[in-house]
Amino acid sequence: MSKNQNKTGSYSFFNCIEKNFDKAARFISIEKGLLEQIKACNSVYRMHFPVKIGKEIKVIEAYRVQHSHHKLPCKGGIRYSMKVNQDEIMTLAALMTYKCAIVDVPFGGAKGGIKIDPQTISSENIEKITRRYTSELIKKNFIGPGIDVPAPDYGTGEREMSWIFDTFLSLRSGDIDALACVTGKPVSQGGVRGRKEATGLGVFYGIRELCHVKEEMSSVGLDVGLVGKKIIIQGLGNVGYHAASFFHESGAIIIALAEREGAIYNEKGLNVSKVFLHLKNNGSILNFPEAKNIENTEKALELECDILIPAALENVIHKNNANHIKAKIIGEAANGPITPEADEILYKKGVIIVPDIYLNAGGVTVSYFEWLKNLSHVRYGRMEKKFRENVNAEFLKVIETVCKKKISIEEKKMILRGPREIDLVRSGLEDTMINGFHKIRDLKKSLKIENMRTAAFVLSINKIIDSYEKLGIFP
Ligand code: NAD
Repeated sequence: MSKNQNKTGSYSFFNCIEKNFDKAARFISIEKGLLEQIKACNSVYRMHFPVKIGKEIKVIEAYRVQHSHHKLPCKGGIRYSMKVNQDEIMTLAALMTYKCAIVDVPFGGAKGGIKIDPQTISSENIEKITRRYTSELIKKNFIGPGIDVPAPDYGTGEREMSWIFDTFLSLRSGDIDALACVTGKPVSQGGVRGRKEATGLGVFYGIRELCHVKEEMSSVGLDVGLVGKKIIIQGLGNVGYHAASFFHESGAIIIALAEREGAIYNEKGLNVSKVFLHLKNNGSILNFPEAKNIENTEKALELECDILIPAALENVIHKNNANHIKAKIIGEAANGPITPEADEILYKKGVIIVPDIYLNAGGVTVSYFEWLKNLSHVRYGRMEKKFRENVNAEFLKVIETVCKKKISIEEKKMILRGPREIDLVRSGLEDTMINGFHKIRDLKKSLKIENMRTAAFVLSINKIIDSYEKLGIFP
């Protein structure tokens, strides 16, 4: 067992990222010390605070890590899980730095975590913990619209983001930009339409783009396009559920869905919204009437399919199961779902891996849109929607006169429509994901880089170097 591996034989999560970084560094000619600076975590805040739960005082362990200050504010989600530890949060913060650079989001990377199991704690107590955590961040200047802006992650959502904003505002009363202290808020609390599904939709856009490239599809023996592709998704949470829904709508076939308690399988395809309803009503995806149960949830990853989307946790594909994976494409919707050893095994098998630092960047991209909205204090589309509709109406009149033909009411509705917030957010996200994909692919081809992950790291590190150089820190 190498010094980087833990007892279970899997790598320390932070070492996984360092390994990927080092592979990319081979393609970058810059002084070693400068690369070390980019790699290092700038600030790690580990805290303990007491919260009264029932009659007992519980000491809560929590973290906020700011990986890079090359751009400010720092940005990254907050996760609630019993697996939270410093190594994990440092790694996720580092991933955020690289991710933001790839999709041109002008933030440094950060991440936060609280070591609790939200499924076993009442919402009143989760609220208490969230508010106390926020005040600890405020005390140490680890949160603020221009400092560090949290967002949802594993085990957190709009509800927690609202509590964070409310706590921030009550302690920073009168701060006109307070709404921008956190993203992923409900729309009624300054959130942006399209944030909730953004990561899943970004995963869909990224995979769709790959599936449209003939050369890539030929390399794994698949036809171009998403229609009919067999997909397995692990995790039916925020990211997994939305990704599954968009794939399903696009004509892909979701043959298996895996959750903590087990997986379900139907070769002909699962109806994602029906499965979600079943999960809501029964508290489990198992025993869905139109599917077979798979008791050992991990086995679902090993089924025959075209595309595998791990959208739950890190390190789920490791040296012990990588050889059994039959997918031709793996889209890393979760952060770090493949260990470096598994990565090498899969690379040798010819599997295309679309890396997390690109593929799940949809969330932070739309978080950036939310932050901009909060700072501008105006809803997207508010100023131009009606203007665009009026211009379109005039334009249509001219076309009808010139062509001497009346356009149908249905067609008119479509053509006249001015952009709503959701349209602008989704088109911004789609454009970002398409551009990101081609930048990575072009670099991979031009530098003859072995895989998309290393190419994505090279792209990202080059952008960070460029920004440090322009700051004047690097000679
Ligand atoms: P979530 O809490 O909404 O969902 C996670 C889901 O995974 C839950 O349904 C949970 O029951 C399931 N799960 C847990 N353990 C499992 C197991 N062993 N097997 C199968 N399923 C299991 O979290 P999320 O926000 O969807 O995040 C999922 C992943 O995506 C995480 O790695 C997170 O870091 C990453 N991510 C999330 C976002 C975002 O915007 N939410 C953005 C980027 C990356």
